[in-house]
Amino acid sequence: MTRYLLDVENPNLDGYEKAGGYQGLARALSMEPALIIEEVKKSGLRGRGGAGFPTGMKWTFAAGDPKFPKYIICNADEGEPGTFKDKAILEKNPHILIEGMAVAARALKAELGYIYLRGEYPKGKDILQAALKEARGKGYLGENIMGSGMRFDIHVHLGAGAYICGEETALINSLEGKRGQPRLKPPFPVNSGLWGRPTMVNNVETLANLPFIMRAGAAQYVKIGDPGCPGNKLFPVSGHVEKPGLYELPMGTTLREIIYGQAGGIKNGKRLKAVIPGGISAPVLPPDAIDCPMDFVSVQKQGSMLGSGGVMVFDNDTCIVRVAHRALEFFERESCGKCTPCREGTSWLRAILERIETRQGREGDLQLLEDVSRNIAGNTFCPLGDGAASAVLGFLRHFREEFEEHIKNGCPFGPDDHTRTVIAR
Ligand code: SF4
Repeated sequence: MTRYLLDVENPNLDGYEKAGGYQGLARALSMEPALIIEEVKKSGLRGRGGAGFPTGMKWTFAAGDPKFPKYIICNADEGEPGTFKDKAILEKNPHILIEGMAVAARALKAELGYIYLRGEYPKGKDILQAALKEARGKGYLGENIMGSGMRFDIHVHLGAGAYICGEETALINSLEGKRGQPRLKPPFPVNSGLWGRPTMVNNVETLANLPFIMRAGAAQYVKIGDPGCPGNKLFPVSGHVEKPGLYELPMGTTLREIIYGQAGGIKNGKRLKAVIPGGISAPVLPPDAIDCPMDFVSVQKQGSMLGSGGVMVFDNDTCIVRVAHRALEFFERESCGKCTPCREGTSWLRAILERIETRQGREGDLQLLEDVSRNIAGNTFCPLGDGAASAVLGFLRHFREEFEEHIKNGCPFGPDDHTRTVIAR
C-alpha cells in the first residue's frame, strides 16, 4: 500500500527531502498555473476537512477572479471531537503542508499564506515555525523560490480555542482581528475572503495531498482508493478498540477493516454497539453498517457523512443517551450564538437529554427532541447547528428503544461514565 501523508517520521527537512520532498513543487514551478489546476482537477482530489468539495473546482473560482493580491489559508483549526489527523501532519510531517501550500500558491498566483492553527496545538506551532525557517533557508519559501522568480511566504496564526473558527468565514474574521463568527455567504471567500480579496481556504490534509499529486502525477493518484474519490485518507480511530490511533488508508476502506483489521477490534472481547464515522457531527451508525466503504458517497447512503473521517467506536456497555448528551454539551458550548435556532436549540436539546439521562424524562420528550432538531436543521447560519440536529436525529433513528427505556425505567448502565474515554469534556 502506498503511504505518502505520514511516511516521513522525521519532521526535519533532510528526512523530507530524502522521501522525495519538494519534488512536487519543482514540477509545479515548471508548469503554467492553469495546468496545475487542471492536474488537480484530474486527480479528483476532494477536500478532507469535512465537506468533500472538489479541490480543483474550488481553485478555479479563485483563479478566475481578477482581483489581487490573493491569499492561501490553511485551515488547521482542528477541533472536532474524535479528530486528530491534522495534528499528526503538523507535528510529524510539517514540510508536506508547506510544500502543498507553495503548490497552491503557484496555481493561484498568491504571494502570502496563513496557517490558522488551533490554539490547543502549541507543540505544532513550534514544529511549524522551525520547518518554515528550514524551508526559507533552503529556498523553498521567500523570494525567487528554487530560482523560478516566484515569491511566497507563510505566517502561522494561533487561534484562541473556538471550534467555530474552523468554519472558513469565521476563521477569516478571526484572522482579521474580528469576533470569530461566520459571515453571510455569498460572497464566498474564493472571491471575497481575507480583507475582501480572493482567498483559498483548504484543510491541512487536503493541502498535504498536493505534493504527491504533483510528484507522481494525477494518473498515478487516481489509482489509489475509490475511483470516485481517490487518494489516501487519514482515519483517526478512538473509543473502545484495542488499538486506537491514526491510520493512513486508501479512501473507500470499509469500517470493518478500519475497526477490526487495523484497530484490533472491540476492546476486552466486547461487541460493537455503535460507530460515529466522521467526527461528532456525523450521525451515528449501527453495527450492521460495518461493511460501509469510507468514502463521501457510501457513508452518505448510510444516512451519515464521512466528515473528518474520525471513527468513534462504542461497545455494548455504552449508554447511548449519555453519548448524545455529551455530544450536545459540546455543541451548546461551541455555538457562537449568532443565530437563534442554534443558540437556543442546542441548549434545549442538551437540557432534554440531560433530564432523560437523569431519570426525569417526560412522555413526549422524544417527539420534542425531533421537533427541536428539525427546527434547527436548515435554519442556521453555518453547519454547526445542522451538525447538532443531525447527531440527535441519528441517535433517535437507531437507538429509540434505549431512549424510551430511560424515560420508563431510568438508565440501565449505572453511574460509571463509560463514554468518558471517547468524548472528553
Ligand atoms: Fe453560530 Fe451556531 Fe449560528 Fe453557526 S449555527 S453561526 S455556530 S449560532
